[in-house]
Amino acid sequence: MASGVVESVAVIGGSIAGCAAALVLHRAGARRVVVHERATAELADRGVGVAVHTERCAELLAAGLVDEAVPWEPMRVRHWYVRDGSEALGRVVGVQPFPFRAYGWGHLWRALRARVPREVEFRTGSTVREIAADAGGVVVRGADDEERYAAVVGADGHASLVRDHLHPGLTPHSAGYPAWRGACPEERLRGLADWADGICAYVVFDGGHLVVYRIPDGRGGRLVNWVLYATVPGTATISRTLDAAHRARLDEITGELLPPFWGELIHRTGPDAVFLQRLYDVTAPRYASGRLLLLGDAATVARPHTGAGAVKALQDVAVLESSLAGGADWASAAAAYDAARAPVGQAMTALGRRLGHGLVEATPDWHTQDAAALDAWWAGLAGQGGFGGRGLGR
Ligand SMILES: Cc1cc2nc3c(=O)[nH]c(=O)nc-3n(C[C@H](O)[C@H](O)[C@H](O)COP(=O)(O)OP(=O)(O)OC[C@H]3O[C@@H](n4cnc5c(N)ncnc54)[C@H](O)[C@@H]3O)c2cc1C
Repeated sequence: MASGVVESVAVIGGSIAGCAAALVLHRAGARRVVVHERATAELADRGVGVAVHTERCAELLAAGLVDEAVPWEPMRVRHWYVRDGSEALGRVVGVQPFPFRAYGWGHLWRALRARVPREVEFRTGSTVREIAADAGGVVVRGADDEERYAAVVGADGHASLVRDHLHPGLTPHSAGYPAWRGACPEERLRGLADWADGICAYVVFDGGHLVVYRIPDGRGGRLVNWVLYATVPGTATISRTLDAAHRARLDEITGELLPPFWGELIHRTGPDAVFLQRLYDVTAPRYASGRLLLLGDAATVARPHTGAGAVKALQDVAVLESSLAGGADWASAAAAYDAARAPVGQAMTALGRRLGHGLVEATPDWHTQDAAALDAWWAGLAGQGGFGGRGLGR
C-alpha cells in the first residue's frame, strides 16, 4: 500500500496488541495514529508471566515485534507431576519437550511501549465510550470529547467496545472456572526441593491443574510464576480479589491435592499477591469490516491453556502489517487480514475449550496414568496443533 494511504487511525487500547499495532501502522505510513488507553497507571506493574513457544518467538523476532533485549528464562521440558505421599515435588507421570521462553508480561509490554514512535500520540486516561462509523469515517467519543478518524483498530481486550459495535450481541462465554495467579520470589522457596532449571511444571489433580515456570524479575533475580485452574462448585461470580469460596477452594487444593512443594509455593506467594482471572471464550466471526478492525483479545479470547494469548495478539499485528504492505487500500488490506486471521481465532478458541475440558472439567484418573497413556491423552487433546500458537502463515 502506498505510503500515507491510511490518513488517520485511532487504536483503542494500549496494551500488547495496541502498542504493536501503533508501531506497524506508523511503519505502514499512516499519517496520524492516536492510541486511546483508559489506564492512567503503568500497565507493566500489573502483569505476571507469559510463555512464548520458541518457534513463534523466532517468527515474531523476525517480524520486529519482539525485542531480543527483553529478558527471558528458557524452558526445555514439561514435567507432569501428581501428588504421591510426602514426595516434595510429587511423582513424575511423564516428561515432554517444552521449547518455550518465559517472559514477564511487564517486560514485553514495556519494550513494545518504548518502541511506539514519537509521532504516535499515546493518550493515557483516555476511555473511549462510543464509536460511530459512517461512509466518511469513524467518530470516537470519550467522556467529553470526540474526534473523527479514517479507521479504528480495536485493541481493547476481552470486553471490546469495537467488537460490540461490529458484532452486536456477541458476548464472551464464561469458561465456568477461574484461574488463580501469582508470582513468588524464588529465594522464598530455597532449600524446599530440587526443581531444576528449564522445567515447566504441570501439577495435575482431579478437577484442575497448576502450571509453574520461572520468569525474570527485572532486577537480576527470578520469580516463580504460577497459574492454577480448578472448578469451584457453587460459585457464579468471580472478581479479581479472592472471596471466601475461592480462598477455601485454594486452601483445599494446596493442602490436599497438590504435592507439598507446590502447595508451599502458593502459600509463600502471600495472600495479597494472589489474584483471580476470569476465563472466557469468544471469537469474532469477522475481524474487519468497513473501517473497523479487531486485534488480539478484542478479536478472540481463547482460554490460557492454549499458551498463546500474547502470541496470537502479536501475530494479528504481524499479519496486519503484511496485509497493509500488500493491499491497494485500507479495504483490501482489511479483507486480507480478516481472511487470514479469523479462522485462526476460531481454531484457538476450539483448542482452548478442548484443553479446558481435559485439564479441568473432565480430568483423567491421574493416579493410574503412566507416561505412554499421558502422551496419548495429550495428543488427543492438542494433536491438531495450535498449542503455543499456530505458525504464522499457516
Ligand atoms: C495490565 C495487564 C496485565 C496483563 N498481564 C498478563 C500476564 O501477566 N500474563 C498473560 O498471559 N496475559 C496478561 N495480560 C493479558 C494479555 O495482555 C492479553 O491476553 C494478550 O496479550 C492480548 O493483549 P491485548 O492487547 O489484545 O489485550 P489486553 O492486554 O487485555 O489489553 C486491552 C487494553 O485495552 C484497554 N481498553 C479497554 N477498553 C478500553 C476503552 N474503552 N478505551 C480505552 N482503552 C480501553 C485496556 O485498559 C487494556 O490496556 C494482561 C493484560 C493487561 C491489560
